Amino acid sequence: MAIIIKSRADIQAMKESAQINAEVLCKLRDAVRPGVKTKELDKIAAETIAQRGGKPAFLGHPKGSPHPFPAIITVAINEQLVHGIPGERMLAEGDIVSLDCGTIYKGFVSDSAFSMGIGKIAPEAQRLLDVTETSLYKGIEVCVPDNRIGDISYAIQTYVEGQGMQVVREYGGHGVGRSMWEDPHIPNWGDPGRGNRLKPGMTFALEPMVMPGDPTTRVLQDHWTVVMADGGLCAHFEHTIVVTENGPEILTKMD
Ligand code: MG
Ligand code: MG
Repeated sequence: MAIIIKSRADIQAMKESAQINAEVLCKLRDAVRPGVKTKELDKIAAETIAQRGGKPAFLGHPKGSPHPFPAIITVAINEQLVHGIPGERMLAEGDIVSLDCGTIYKGFVSDSAFSMGIGKIAPEAQRLLDVTETSLYKGIEVCVPDNRIGDISYAIQTYVEGQGMQVVREYGGHGVGRSMWEDPHIPNWGDPGRGNRLKPGMTFALEPMVMPGDPTTRVLQDHWTVVMADGGLCAHFEHTIVVTENGPEILTKMD
């Protein structure tokens, strides 16, 4: 498993790509309210990426698939975990929504996501959002040279389970760069001290997916939408980061 070390110029291009992706997510966050159709959010993402001279990374992905992803962003509501297809559904007060976007710019992919409540949400839903977001930062914190991939997995899992919640097993973070999924896969669970050593210039998308209940998932008949098998709530936060000599730097930071 070869992890690609990016040059300074590559990292600069990734930063620019990541800034566009962060701008998209900020605009989506501002647009989220009861009554908005998820396809309207997709349109905002398409327009923002185009205005900035980027290309959407998810549209048509993966190449050659009989069921390529048909939209710019993924939208997952309540028991939907990831990879939901935008459409006619309207956001409703009390829902939690997860929005994920990928941008290609100057040949580099950036990938980030967040979950948020719509209007007033239940206290346990808010706690799920808080635990999931914090777990992402627990994973990012340990992205320092000489740590290992397993240290990231372990940091996320132990924090989440310490809060009485679960991490999903089938999906996780990944290397990111010239393609959306580079080596390595970064599970949100596992043992410390295992896997590749981290080095400056490695770029990853970390993405904990967390739920208070059973972490078993299934995929809907649309070939994409991943939902919790038990119908429970779930949340997802993601950043594209680079490992530097001085520790992790978040490239997709939102204002
Ligand atoms: Mg993503
Ligand atoms: Mg990702």
